[in-house]
Amino acid sequence: MLLSIKTGGCPEDCAYCPQSAHYRTDVTRSELVSIEELTSAAEQARGQGATRFCMGAAWRDVPDGPAFSQVLTMVRVVRGLGMEACCTLGMLTQAQADALADAGLTAYNHNLDTSPEFYGSIITTRTYDERLATLARVRQSGVTVCCGGIIGMGEDRHVRYRLLQQLASLDPHPESVPVNMLVRVEGTPLADMKAEDPFELVRTIAAARILMPASIVRLSAGRLSLTDEAQALCFLAGANSVFLGERLLTTPNPGTSHDEQLLNRLGMRLTVSTSDAKVPADVAG
Ligand code: SF4
Repeated sequence: MLLSIKTGGCPEDCAYCPQSAHYRTDVTRSELVSIEELTSAAEQARGQGATRFCMGAAWRDVPDGPAFSQVLTMVRVVRGLGMEACCTLGMLTQAQADALADAGLTAYNHNLDTSPEFYGSIITTRTYDERLATLARVRQSGVTVCCGGIIGMGEDRHVRYRLLQQLASLDPHPESVPVNMLVRVEGTPLADMKAEDPFELVRTIAAARILMPASIVRLSAGRLSLTDEAQALCFLAGANSVFLGERLLTTPNPGTSHDEQLLNRLGMRLTVSTSDAKVPADVAG
């Protein structure tokens, strides 16, 4: 389950993102949530069957000082509840990556989003190499890597192949690979993008599964635009995780009761966690 711990006002210009300060969207800015709010959200997530709790902050890079200390406390709180903790906070220095590792962080999410060649059409405020550098620092710190991309941003199949090639060239492979379908949000430059054919998502997931056989491939944003049948095909193609809950950072997500019904209809179950909390985690076929 994913929680936005600091929403909106991001200085980056990712063309798909309603949290960018460059675009006028319905997202309301908010400061870093309190430890109390975080704890209550994490406890609720655990009660609903999540084993990994992800915390996202709309930052270009992590500000050192009280905000970063608060994030470190949040990581400890989530770990203390027996769940895996994941953060997505933007670019990291090596010292920050090491501090997150010391706090017990399980995984760090930092998506490559798309191919190196198409990157400049989507984001101009940072480079692909900066992205790769943060991924290398995370790997160096011993925290596992969550890294994936988005399809449906106007790219062609070659771009998607190149993204997958980049991901599969990381050594070792990212332990977690989120594959997102663009959510076309009003006010962002990609709001009027033509809807991508869901079969392209299925093909992308299948290729990710073949290229990175041991990775958890997460069917992430954009599930609301998919029929139950399209989601079933994604699972058959190799997706073995979804995000639970009604929101993914700022975009809508199917509710847990719908997911439960769908998994039951498909004869699928939630994996039982190996963590101390003994709560279910990723989706297993
Ligand atoms: S995707 Fe992340 S880095 Fe890009 S604008 Fe949104 S919050 Fe900022």
